[in-house]
Amino acid sequence: MSATRIKADIVAIGGGFAGITLVKRLQRRLPPSRSVLLVSEESYITFNPLLPEAVSATIFPEQVIAPVREVIDLNRGGRFVMARVKSVDPAARTVTCLSLAHELVIDYGELVLAFGTRARIDFLPGLAEHAAPLKTVGDAMDIRNRILRRMARIELEDDPAKRASLGHFVIIGGGFSGVEVAGEVVDCIHAIRRYYPRVEAALLKVTLIHDTDRLLPELPAPMGADAMRSLDRRGVEVLLGPVRAAAVDAHGVTLSDGRYIATHTVICTVGTRPNGLTGSLGLPLERGRIRTHADMRVEQFEHIWALGDCAWVPNAATPGEVAPPTAQFAVRQGVQLADNLCAAIEGRPTKPFAHASVGMMAAVGRLDGVAMIGKWHISGFPAWLMWRAYYLSQMPTTGRKVRIALEWIWGIFFPPDITHLRFTRSRDNVPD
Ligand SMILES: Cc1cc2nc3c(=O)[nH]c(=O)nc-3n(C[C@H](O)[C@H](O)[C@H](O)COP(=O)(O)OP(=O)(O)OC[C@H]3O[C@@H](n4cnc5c(N)ncnc54)[C@H](O)[C@@H]3O)c2cc1C
Repeated sequence: MSATRIKADIVAIGGGFAGITLVKRLQRRLPPSRSVLLVSEESYITFNPLLPEAVSATIFPEQVIAPVREVIDLNRGGRFVMARVKSVDPAARTVTCLSLAHELVIDYGELVLAFGTRARIDFLPGLAEHAAPLKTVGDAMDIRNRILRRMARIELEDDPAKRASLGHFVIIGGGFSGVEVAGEVVDCIHAIRRYYPRVEAALLKVTLIHDTDRLLPELPAPMGADAMRSLDRRGVEVLLGPVRAAAVDAHGVTLSDGRYIATHTVICTVGTRPNGLTGSLGLPLERGRIRTHADMRVEQFEHIWALGDCAWVPNAATPGEVAPPTAQFAVRQGVQLADNLCAAIEGRPTKPFAHASVGMMAAVGRLDGVAMIGKWHISGFPAWLMWRAYYLSQMPTTGRKVRIALEWIWGIFFPPDITHLRFTRSRDNVPD
């Protein structure tokens, strides 16, 4: 296959929070004579904080993602190519990728790495084979379908032990995603039970396993306690450290104290590993992330920059610390790096990245949440409402915002959708 060759002054790899924010800012700041090109393996950005809601079908998967071509107005300049980057040659200043049509070689002036991380599910025996990770919209749909299949299978099963293990959902990880998924799953299974008359309420159970002594270790202790109370009210059993999950098999989870939880469904919300590209580029690394100077230029590489989850970026607002891998920081870095690239191109000095966290929010099931905004600690319905209002404000285009808002209002009054989409194609049908 012969390669097609294109070029751009600035090439960004990764259409997540970091890459999209960067390109949108560059469109406004870059002189018209300079070109910018975004390469990403998917045609959409995933709003990861909303994935737990897609798991419980509180919102449809299409509402967790937004097409790159809608988020970035390409009529204002810039170019988007959907392709998976395979390699980078810093000496020749080229990126090689595989697009839908060809192998592409892209010549760059400045290269920005914003390709995030991948889910890691091999840190416990049996986890990779038997647990479902939550990192992509496909993962969310897979978990949702597993939940629906378990409910349908309980209806067909007479053995009490089998029915109990089918009705038991285990979540590993008590950080943001774990708490959110536990809240969503428990509310979802009880709300949809009305469609499964042979599934008794007493059969359904959710257990959250977390290896430290409190939930939400990223937040102040009172918020972890609020999340604990909220899950407790919903009937979720929370197992905290020192007990932890030790192994997973097809029939359940073995705990570090020797106990065994019989379950058919294990959801893993912890663990990331570096993107395969990270180690292959020969760049300086720190704990699997690309080391950058304060202005996000990669150490020892004059024309390569990195930001977001894949980068180890010092934070001048908290000297001695690096920016945490969160969407909030990825977005702030995108803005700052766009300004730094413009400065570098125009020969002006760049600025160090500096951002103090403005707060954090987590939803804990329907109409409940916890939030910390500045010094304010909010919980319950107001926190949930703030959480939803914030993410709605982040969605592109008014049309999309209205559709999502209507869907959310609908979801307050009606149970989640239980359509189990199986993508059966006519040409796959075997003769009757
Ligand atoms: C379930 C879940 C819940 C979360 N909740 C929160 C929250 O509430 N608040 C918060 O602040 N953060 C949250 N996060 C973390 C947040 O999503 C990340 O910090 C953020 O997405 C990082 O942005 P990024 O642009 O660096 O990477 P990503 O968003 O991961 O984007 C990376 C992009 O690079 C693309 N890419 C990867 N490899 C290649 C390649 N070889 N070629 C081309 N393209 C490639 C990917 O397709 C993707 O588009 C959550 C994460 C998860 C998984």
